[in-house]
Amino acid sequence: MTSRAAVICSLVLASATVQDREDAALVSASAGRTVRVRFGSSGTSRILDLPMELYVARVLAAEGEPRAEVAAQHALAIVVRTFATVNARRHRRDGFDLCDTTHCQVLRPFTPATREAALATAGQLLTYEGRPAEVFYSASCGGRSEAVSQVWTGATDLPYLRSADDDVHDADAPWVLELPIGRVEEALRRAGFDGPRLKDVSVERRSPSRRVTRLHLSGMRPAEISGEDFRAALGARELRSTQFSVETTRGILRFTGHGYGHGVGMCVVGAGRRAARGEMLSQILEQYYPGLKVQPVAALSFAPLMAPAPEHEPARVPGSVATAASRVRDELAAALGIGSPPALQVQVHETLEAFRLATGRPWWTAVVVEGASIDLAPMPILAQQDGAEAAIRRGVAEALVREALADRPAWVRIGAARYYGSAQRPAPTKKNVRCPSDAELMMALSASALRDAELRAESCFARALAKTGDWRAVR
Ligand SMILES: [Zn+2]
Ligand SMILES: [Zn+2]
Repeated sequence: MTSRAAVICSLVLASATVQDREDAALVSASAGRTVRVRFGSSGTSRILDLPMELYVARVLAAEGEPRAEVAAQHALAIVVRTFATVNARRHRRDGFDLCDTTHCQVLRPFTPATREAALATAGQLLTYEGRPAEVFYSASCGGRSEAVSQVWTGATDLPYLRSADDDVHDADAPWVLELPIGRVEEALRRAGFDGPRLKDVSVERRSPSRRVTRLHLSGMRPAEISGEDFRAALGARELRSTQFSVETTRGILRFTGHGYGHGVGMCVVGAGRRAARGEMLSQILEQYYPGLKVQPVAALSFAPLMAPAPEHEPARVPGSVATAASRVRDELAAALGIGSPPALQVQVHETLEAFRLATGRPWWTAVVVEGASIDLAPMPILAQQDGAEAAIRRGVAEALVREALADRPAWVRIGAARYYGSAQRPAPTKKNVRCPSDAELMMALSASALRDAELRAESCFARALAKTGDWRAVR
């Protein structure tokens, strides 16, 4: 951050702090409901409990259109509040609810218009079957919204998050992005791809809304990437959406596209245009979330969509899982020569939705390890794969080796986790197996592609271990 940006940033924070203390109306409209927000990234971050309606007014100032008509402001206020309510446990492990980046929702000091919108809609939530609905929104759908299941693999195809036409974009000019192919290759390598040289990028598949769901990367490994991962690798602000076509001319990739953002749920630009042509709040919400109701939070008795953390409801982690995890931990710590293994937190998610919300990974990644936390997919999914015991062993092994192998390629960590997690450690094969790139392990496009990459990671690890004799020295 430049020093000028730092000064502006601290001024914004200072004025926001004054706002926090001064606005009694937003505080009382919150009726005691708060959101614990982390401002800034780790190192310079601070965590604050914001009254819910103050949070809504501030997110609206960042995510909305400053001059949008009242009905659009009100619609987005309800969506922002619903999103915060449903995702309140997203960062629970780090001791807060929501971060202040695009990962959750961005905040800015509120304006008179956003304050009014929060107050006018205070406590109102979008609900689906009597519970706060899982909602999404993005800047512009470009003419057609996207179904949630196309963007997040494994997401339930919620009836109110299906693809729909938005007839307010006819006059939108397409955006154009031109990049030298070498820059695209660098971005892919940073994202974990390898291979000799990127020769061309072509669209392989599109969703029914015409967004790119799969691209072919000739000359790279793996040679395929999902549209969303490609956009993230290039930068979501540069490549504004996956609704694009691409052509290569003399080493330059030219992307031409529509819209900005993932396109699921409300389109902020579209809501503004609908309000400007006289549509009411209810019409706007019906366009972007058909069938959802608006209800006051006080009238609802709901369980959070995400399975609660084990300390609150021990029953969610079956006793046998917790027991197995600590037995396996002690056994593997001894095998790995780790003197005092850390306490591990294991969570078995009840639904795939809860697993996906907690980890951000598709269902075929049955085990996700972060620090000392191990997230497991629901039991029936584990049973379809190698079983719960195997998943626990693998998760525990990864949690134990993770820190020591943090600076290695992903195949070392995942290979070690599989190798030590297997009940019988596989002997190194004679075959010359190609070690998977990070992208093959972290961005696999199917269960079988992931399984193949993981088996190669394990073979590579076994082969390297046979040479070094020390798991910590494998690289
Ligand atoms: Zn976040
Ligand atoms: Zn739209």
